[in-house]
Amino acid sequence: MAERRCPSCGEATAWEANPHRPFCSARCRMVDLQGWLGERYAIPGEPANDGAGEGAEGIGQPSRSPGERARR
Ligand SMILES: [Zn+2]
Repeated sequence: MAERRCPSCGEATAWEANPHRPFCSARCRMVDLQGWLGERYAIPGEPANDGAGEGAEGIGQPSRSPGERARR
């Protein structure tokens, strides 16, 4: 059985059937994510839809540039 360590908390975690790998849980994934985002985005609590829409609506992706709106 493949077993890895969670890069966030360092716990040994099951690799198979783990949707949050390489992390042990969604929480650790968020912790790590916020870590390398440099705390630019302060997320109050956990989003309810974590793991649901990855890449659909970009996390921290600027919706539109101001210049584009002015151009009309
Ligand atoms: Zn962990």
